[in-house]
Amino acid sequence: MRIAVLPGDGIGPEVTAEALKVLRVMEKKYDLKIEIKQGEIGGSAMEKYGTPLPEETIDICQEAEAVFLGSVGHPKWDSLPPEKRPEIGGLLKLRKLLQLYANIRPVVLFEKLKEVSPLCDSILAKKIDILIVRELASGIYFGQPRAFTGHEALDTMRYKVEEVERIARLAFEIAGKRRKKVTSVDKANVLHSSMLWRKVVGQVAPGFPQVRLNHLYVDNAAMQLILNPSQFDVILTSNLFGDILSDESAALVGSLGLLPSASIGEKINLYEPVGGSAPDIAGKGIANPIAQILCLGLMFEYSFSRADLALVIFKAVEQALNDGFRTQDVVAPGMSCKTTAEVGNKVCEYVLNWTN
Ligand code: NAD
Repeated sequence: MRIAVLPGDGIGPEVTAEALKVLRVMEKKYDLKIEIKQGEIGGSAMEKYGTPLPEETIDICQEAEAVFLGSVGHPKWDSLPPEKRPEIGGLLKLRKLLQLYANIRPVVLFEKLKEVSPLCDSILAKKIDILIVRELASGIYFGQPRAFTGHEALDTMRYKVEEVERIARLAFEIAGKRRKKVTSVDKANVLHSSMLWRKVVGQVAPGFPQVRLNHLYVDNAAMQLILNPSQFDVILTSNLFGDILSDESAALVGSLGLLPSASIGEKINLYEPVGGSAPDIAGKGIANPIAQILCLGLMFEYSFSRADLALVIFKAVEQALNDGFRTQDVVAPGMSCKTTAEVGNKVCEYVLNWTN
């Protein structure tokens, strides 16, 4: 398993270090052959090399079978020109280079974390297990023209038929292995790009007769996620709407620090937590490492076809949370907060002791 590890900025290096501890335990326990090459990305790379995505990093990623990323960014780099900013010149450029077209974001509420969800008991009585499939390579984050003149600013939300077909097919395939329902989210009552989206998704659907399809406008979807989240199985949506709805979903399950994601490319996939570099808590040893650790599970499942190992990681994480090994973002009243490293160490211990 050849893995490129890019810890990035802010809490990225702290949480990546915990995930790597877990990976090493998995390697030993399951006799895996793992080769790790570490690279720089984001603002820290910018300060060292004058670019947020150095050539060495691109090479390391292109030689790997999977890229394991922390996060990038900090407000102090926000005034740099776009190509030098961690998000645009670093992460978005890497996503484009690796042709990552889909971002998969599982949103699962751990039973014991119901106590930290902002939802009321009657809503939490039903299971929350959603998988968001977000289009990643197109839409308003990449559409041209885009401009900022000072008096006027412009972004372009553009989709091509083949881009919508590709992501829709993936969402239907994944739904076929789950509860067989796709909810496509758009704004087809207003936006032309959404009208195309809805039409193409409707054309892909008959190829997957076992999967039910329904459509929601994004404003309604945002509301339904709060009122009745258990109605969702797979949510299929565009780059912008997926970005927003997945952060909203994070709140449902307790914290952004719990949500992993997999970005699917034609050849190499990239794994990163849904949250950002969290500058407000970086360097304090209190960031939640669970999202980053769960990214390992997604990597085993989607890059190395080892869903069995993904399950081991999920169970170890669940057990650590159940036993009160929780960082400050997910503690219940009266519970003590654990550090990033304490949670990481506990997950390692449970992985080591796990028996099928
Ligand atoms: P953020 O996701 O970094 O933080 C939002 C809130 O969630 C903060 O209160 C933070 O403390 C909390 N949070 C996030 N991850 C956490 C974790 N693992 N444990 C505990 N709490 C956690 O979003 P932001 O504050 O809007 O952005 C900060 C920086 O991150 C910006 O520069 C932004 O551009 C960047 N960013 C990067 C990515 C990425 O690398 N993929 C994604 C989003 C934002």
